[in-house]
Amino acid sequence: MPQTIAPEFATLIADLGRAIGPKYVLWRVEELMMYEFDGSALDLARPDIVVVPASTAEIAAVVKIAAAAGFPIVPRGGGTGLSGGSVPAAGGVVVATSRMQKVLHVDPVARTAIVQPGLINTELSEYTLPWNLHFAPDPSSQKASTIGGNSAENAGGPHCLKYGITTNHVLAATMVLADGSILHIDTTAPDRPGYDLLGVIVGSEGTLGMVTEITVRLTPNPEGVKTFLAIFDDLDSASDTVSAIIAQGVIPAALEMLEGQGIALVEQSVHAGYPLDAQAVLLIEIDGTDEEIEDQTARIEYICSHFEARELRAAKDEEQRKKLWAGRKGALAACARLAPHYHIQDGVVPRSRLTEVLQLTREVAKRQRVHIVNIFHAGDGNLHPLILFDIREPGIIDRAIAASEEIMRECIRVGGSISGEHGIGIEKRDYMSLLFNEDDLWAMRQMRACFDAVGVMNPCKLIPTGASCGDIKHARGAAKALAAGAWI
Ligand SMILES: Cc1cc2nc3c(=O)[nH]c(=O)nc-3n(C[C@H](O)[C@H](O)[C@H](O)COP(=O)(O)OP(=O)(O)OC[C@H]3O[C@@H](n4cnc5c(N)ncnc54)[C@H](O)[C@@H]3O)c2cc1C
Repeated sequence: MPQTIAPEFATLIADLGRAIGPKYVLWRVEELMMYEFDGSALDLARPDIVVVPASTAEIAAVVKIAAAAGFPIVPRGGGTGLSGGSVPAAGGVVVATSRMQKVLHVDPVARTAIVQPGLINTELSEYTLPWNLHFAPDPSSQKASTIGGNSAENAGGPHCLKYGITTNHVLAATMVLADGSILHIDTTAPDRPGYDLLGVIVGSEGTLGMVTEITVRLTPNPEGVKTFLAIFDDLDSASDTVSAIIAQGVIPAALEMLEGQGIALVEQSVHAGYPLDAQAVLLIEIDGTDEEIEDQTARIEYICSHFEARELRAAKDEEQRKKLWAGRKGALAACARLAPHYHIQDGVVPRSRLTEVLQLTREVAKRQRVHIVNIFHAGDGNLHPLILFDIREPGIIDRAIAASEEIMRECIRVGGSISGEHGIGIEKRDYMSLLFNEDDLWAMRQMRACFDAVGVMNPCKLIPTGASCGDIKHARGAAKALAAGAWI
């Protein structure tokens, strides 16, 4: 259906088209619709315009033009985020990185790679396979999420327990700031003096600038890998096993837990051999030399038997190992068997408090009459209570929000935090004040203002409403939804 350009956008669309080519400036409703969502259940605002630039210079040009016209900029990678970060809170220009997916350089001796931000996570490790190297952060979304998005969210993943989260693997970044200037921060030289600006940028959720090139650390592929499924008849024993494994000095490459209903849902979907009647299962992966694997295997066998695991099964071959992982990585999709909509939390708790917080999630599920399935990174205490519901049920949204809030408060009460890896975005923005006092938040706003004094970059995200949200000039339907705390 032919559409005419709204007069208030005509000049902007023409200017952006001159900068990057008209076919890379999207403004028709049907082109904009897919940018209204990310992986969360939030329904925010449709962007006014989406641009798909191909280089740092084009991003700089786009940012200058849009900011001068008073439009906020929202960076977007794979759109798999779970906290609404890549979706405009109230209109603006979405800058997508889908034309910036190249590996620009690999240095196998230094074990580094320079990549564009739109590169899909797994594609980097596939590219570096000939050198027997890989990019260690492995979010479960790694087949669709980008290195730019992983950096912006400081993503984690099952193997981050041993190898560290994204911030430990980013060595340099080029970033376009809100005024269109280009900043390059490089920490490849060891022990650099001065402020850790790269540390500030990683995890900043697109609120400080748009990252256009990233140098990452590459990790050697392990010599050997062994994956176990430990099966438990009660949750407490499984949680105690997690704490004991780490306390005994074993740092598995990954230590994941599935509990309760989640196990059966995953099994029905993936047929990985998970027992349908278990109360909890642990997916334990160790890696290293033959001697290291032998030593860790003995210790894991001892601990699992001490905590009365019903069975400890080792994957016999690569096919079985992949099946076990397919269950874990496909867990979110598998849970759609129970209810069509989800909201996922990712609070973190000290490992020693896992049992009591998991117990609480069960009580919350009963109290709020929602399903909650826990499938999570147990080794680092990063819970992922998956709240499942059907939005057609009256009142369910309020109950799901209440459940989510109860769990976040409990995570803070036991000394944890409201997010381990999914970021704050807009979804958890107002809960930041549960964790930080007004002075802390003021300091964060000041820091943000050093990069972006007017709040052009991804406004209304990460830090509770303040000056940055006052600058939005295009608040439309979303403002209502936000005010109502709407998700769907
Ligand atoms: C099924 C599923 C499983 C998941 N599992 C995990 C998991 O195990 N661990 C985990 O950490 N997360 C997980 N996530 C969440 C999500 O995949 C991660 O947060 C991921 O890092 C987002 O990457 P993306 O490319 O999709 O970014 P997007 O969703 O597009 O954007 C996320 C944020 O990054 C910003 N951004 C994107 N690109 C840039 C850039 N170039 N410069 C500046 N800012 C930018 C956006 O503005 C936004 O704030 C999962 C999501 C799903 C749907």
